[in-house]
Amino acid sequence: MNVVDASRQFKRAADRVPTPSFAARYLGRTVLAIGAHPDDIELGIGGTVALLANAGIRVITAIVSVPAEYELRTAEAKESAAILGSEPRILLEGACRRIEDLKNYQLVGLLDTLVREAKPAAVLTHGPTDFHHDHVTVYHASVAAQRVTQFDLFSYVPTMTRPVPVPFEPNAYVDISSTMDKKLEAIAAHKSQFYSRGLAFEFYRDLAKVNGRMVGVDYAEALAVDKIVFA
Ligand SMILES: [Zn+2]
Repeated sequence: MNVVDASRQFKRAADRVPTPSFAARYLGRTVLAIGAHPDDIELGIGGTVALLANAGIRVITAIVSVPAEYELRTAEAKESAAILGSEPRILLEGACRRIEDLKNYQLVGLLDTLVREAKPAAVLTHGPTDFHHDHVTVYHASVAAQRVTQFDLFSYVPTMTRPVPVPFEPNAYVDISSTMDKKLEAIAAHKSQFYSRGLAFEFYRDLAKVNGRMVGVDYAEALAVDKIVFA
């Protein structure tokens, strides 16, 4: 059997197992996606956000800071959220700010306030192995927010506009075959990050294809489960 046949067989095997959707777990509740900067959420979990929103779930996409070109990047983030069907928030609103401008307790306070208000059933945030220090800082503040209320906590793949190989060990996958194109459309809304700098975002389709191959679907986003509570 050649490699192509083996892959097809795997896919058929996966198709035989009925899998409850990620969205089914969160129907009627709120899911909070957190990104340090505009475009992080789209790169990491744009397909998952669109999938949840399509199912009628309230998804808040919270961007902690806009480090440059505030008006432009805020407008791009709003356009992207409209594509994904999410409710956008900028936590450090009104001007360009960097996460490093905050003390850790201030960042923790921002996320505490958000989860206290939104009462999310799940939080999807950066992971601890990201190469970007801001992302890791946001991860730790998200972990701390569990003091305020209970929610499932997931980390998404390290996000970057230019690929940097850093470790990430996913143990959960979301089939985003139906929202793959929407994810790319949302990424493309961040024109200042991709077009003007000549960056190709087909990379994110490739990554989703590889993740999909791992679990027998066309396209998938990979998550690491930090905590999940079953009834
Ligand atoms: Zn970022």
